[in-house]
Amino acid sequence: MRALEDRYGRVATDLRVSLTDRCNLRCSYCMPEEGLDWLANERLLSDDEVVRLIDIAVTILGVREVRFTGGEPLVRRGLVDIVQRTAALAPRPELSLTTNALGLARTAPALAAAGLDRVNVSLDTVRRETFLEITRRDRLDDVIAGLEAAQAAGLGPVKINAVLLRGVNDTQAAELLAWSLERDYHLRFIEQMPLDAQHGWDRAAMVTADEILAHLETRFSLSPAVEPRGSAPAELFRVDGGTGTVGVIASVTRPFCGDCDRVRLTADGQVRNCLFAREESDLRGAMRDGASDEELAERWLIAMRGKRPGHGIDDPTFLQPDRPMSAIGG
Ligand code: SAM
Ligand code: SF4
Repeated sequence: MRALEDRYGRVATDLRVSLTDRCNLRCSYCMPEEGLDWLANERLLSDDEVVRLIDIAVTILGVREVRFTGGEPLVRRGLVDIVQRTAALAPRPELSLTTNALGLARTAPALAAAGLDRVNVSLDTVRRETFLEITRRDRLDDVIAGLEAAQAAGLGPVKINAVLLRGVNDTQAAELLAWSLERDYHLRFIEQMPLDAQHGWDRAAMVTADEILAHLETRFSLSPAVEPRGSAPAELFRVDGGTGTVGVIASVTRPFCGDCDRVRLTADGQVRNCLFAREESDLRGAMRDGASDEELAERWLIAMRGKRPGHGIDDPTFLQPDRPMSAIGG
């Protein structure tokens, strides 16, 4: 077994696999209302190709956790089969899914039976009009049904990821936390990042971790959670001295690049050593040209050596990556 180590001593053991760049929502911080030019089918990895690359990552390169994402991974037809084949690898990786939960009410039992361990559901508000304003689709009820089904299927602890937008849902943070605590969902707020397809991100308009915490503290008392954070991006807080927690992922104002243990595989088979990387390494082309598992693993190791020490969002010279979050895999 070799390690996906970079020049700064960080070792990637957590692989994010994007299964599609397509989506059935249109969150304003992610993509424009009309959607994007989706990847052509022949550029997408087939189910067999995805599983082969995950197999290499797990059995040769020491990856221990695999998270499926997108775009919206539930729109990928082969998802349950891919999960099942990944769960059969030895050593078996931890398996999770980041999803908007549309359709999860139907598929949660099959995903759990296939070996999925956990889900992270994206939900920014529990108000119907605000949900429609952010996602441009009137589907809040489906998300709530998906959350309930995930919990009933044992895909827990069910986490919720929320992005706050100034003037839209930023004053609803405490309401969303109360709602999540009541249902035993683990809520984490993510600072908005410059990864939208429209390049509309504005540092000055971004709701910061400090603001989020100040808003939550108008209703709850927060104390730092005792467990060490390790490579987890979320800073965790205990709520009102009880067992409930809330997380804040302050990628912009409190970056955690020094502890990063992640690597990404896009739906078209490119390795990205960082969400904000400006270069990718093409495994799909090499694979279709007949590369062996060893050769693909070697390419992957080389791709990791180019990982930068940090994303530099706050640098004046920062350049947004060419591909949006939905194409990279969030
Ligand atoms: N469609 C799935 C979902 O929404 O969970 C998976 C893909 S989505 C790109 C993954 C995560 O990225 C979601 O939690 C979403 O809220 C988050 N996200 C998307 N655009 C973002 C941005 N500009 N800044 C911060 N988080 C973002
Ligand atoms: Fe779709 Fe997820 Fe992007 Fe929303 S954040 S548009 S659900 S990919």
